[in-house]
This record gives sequence, structure tokens and C-alpha cells, in this order.
Amino acid sequence: MKEIQETESLVAGCRLPVSSCAGIRHDFQAEEILQLFALPFSDLIFKAAEIHRANHNPNAVQISTLLSIKTGSCPENCKYCPQSAHHNTGLEKESLLEISKILDAAHEAKKAGASRFCMGAAWRNLNERDVEKVCEIVDAVKKCGLETCMTLGMLTDSQSKRLKDAGLDYYNHNIDSSPEFYSEIISTRNFEDRLNTLKNVREAGLNVCSGGIVGMGEVREDRAKMLIVLANLPKHPQSVPINMLVKVKGTPLENVEPLDQFEFIRTIAVARIMMPQSVVRLSAGRENMSEQTQALCFLAGANSIFYGEKLLTTGNPEMERDRKLFEKLGIVGM
Ligand code: SF4
Repeated sequence: MKEIQETESLVAGCRLPVSSCAGIRHDFQAEEILQLFALPFSDLIFKAAEIHRANHNPNAVQISTLLSIKTGSCPENCKYCPQSAHHNTGLEKESLLEISKILDAAHEAKKAGASRFCMGAAWRNLNERDVEKVCEIVDAVKKCGLETCMTLGMLTDSQSKRLKDAGLDYYNHNIDSSPEFYSEIISTRNFEDRLNTLKNVREAGLNVCSGGIVGMGEVREDRAKMLIVLANLPKHPQSVPINMLVKVKGTPLENVEPLDQFEFIRTIAVARIMMPQSVVRLSAGRENMSEQTQALCFLAGANSIFYGEKLLTTGNPEMERDRKLFEKLGIVGM
């Protein structure tokens, strides 16, 4: 009891007692989350680490590998994305890869220690004519002994069910930012479209992977509201990727002010506190982070990374560097 009281006094800026922070909630409001964000850094990290330890092995990090199975020429105009046909980034375009090439990459990923293989296609939505091929890909990758995840744009309810029947484990569909900031970043679809696909995926029984991107010029309130939307879904996403914007030349966000790395770590910590049982993924942008920043992210509750040299079309730290970092920190892959 004494221990709990001490912990509560350490996080005096937060109205929530630690015991209720550790529970599963879907009723977060902006004010309390902004209070969390505003805690002294050490108090916030302490609180997040405590919740992390109560729900996960703090020294285990899930490893996913990401392959772009169809690259570029996307009709959407997401301002951060080099794959959008609206931006001229000099990206080499590729149509849907042959299954044999995908399987080669999946075997490589398995050998390198990945447990999940994520496949992304730069589509606005999954086209009916591609559903069968995509289902074949899921089936073939699963047979390699890997969990499967796909990100293919918007899905209907029946497409979600077909992917589930084919054995897909996770579907990634990020909400990107707050509902308020969304239209600043994308105008070819709206926030509601994102939520509809998440509903279809969830109701089909697929695990949901959904997070967003920070450092796009949004304010803290947007980061808080993005996390509120995720945590207030009927079920917390099983996986929550938090991406730091990778500024790509030729995209409208190439010159946006960088986000302070402490604010990024705070975002990870708040995500951990709000969604205690989800896997929080330290996702894009890791290449530009120091080892110390990454270590603080793990302390703050990040317990998944993308591993491998390419993160769709932007760089990711070399695998050897990751291995060494894990060794230094005593982290094991899961
Ligand atoms: S983020 Fe996805 S939907 Fe947006 S432009 Fe890139 S590939 Fe298309």
C-alpha cells in the first residue's frame, strides 16, 4: 500500500491513480491526456515503465520485417508519403511482386529473427481483382512459419473476412493523426474512412495494427487526440505503431520542423499508459534516432520494432546495428 501511495505522489500531476491507469479504458478525454503529456519527463517515463512491466516482459521486443509488395503510383495524396502519385520523389515504381520474390524475402526475414512478416501495397483500397492473389500470398508466407500482416489501404467487410479466412493475422491501417489535423495531411479520403476500415477489420476477427505519425507539424493536442481515438476504439489495437516522420525530398513535408525527440518519447510513454496491453511499435524514423533515444523508448514501453534494411521505401537501421543495440541493452527478440 505504501508503495502505491509513493508512486501516486511521484505522478502527482496526473489525476489517475496508478491502479486505474493499469486497467483497460475506452473513455479517455483530452484534458487528462494532456496532463499526462505535461508530467515531468522522469515521472511520465516511470509511470509508463511501471505499466509496461505489469503487462509485458520489459526486456523482450517483438521483431517485424516489412516488405513493399507493390510500390508507388498511389492515387492518395498523403503529404508524408513518397509513394503518392501526387509527389515527385523519383521513387522506382513496382507492380505487385511475384509470390516467389515475396517468399524469398520472407525466408530471409525468418533467418534474421523476425516473427512477423508485414507486407504493404501502395493502394487506395484493395481491388476485388487482387483479393485472390493477396490471399495466396498470405497462405504461402504463413507456411514459412511467420505471422502475417498486411497493409493494402481500405478494406470492405467481406474482403476483411476473406483475408481472415486465408489466415492473415494482422491488418495495419494507421489513423495517421488527430481527426482535426487529418485534412491538413490528406484530402483524398477522410478520417471516417479510416475508422470504417478499422471496424471491418476488427469485426472480421483480425488483429488490428493501427497507430500514426508524429512530427508532421501537428501540435501536442493532435498527438493526444490521435492516441485518444485509438484507445477509445471498442478494443485497443493489438499493435500500435508510432512513427516519427521521415522527411522525404519531393514530398510536401520535406521541410517541416523536426519534432523534439523527448516529445517523441513522451508520445510512446503516453501510448503505453493508455493501451497497457497493446504492443507499442517504435516504427519509422528509427534510423535518425540515437541509441539513447531508442533505449528511452524501450524504457517508456515500446516493445516492437521493424527490423531490416528497408521500411517500405525509406531506410531503417542496419540489422547489425540493431543486433548490437539489443545486446547492449540486454533485450531479446520475441
Ligand atoms: S500512405 Fe499509403 S495511402 Fe497514402 S499515399 Fe502512401 S501508399 Fe498511398
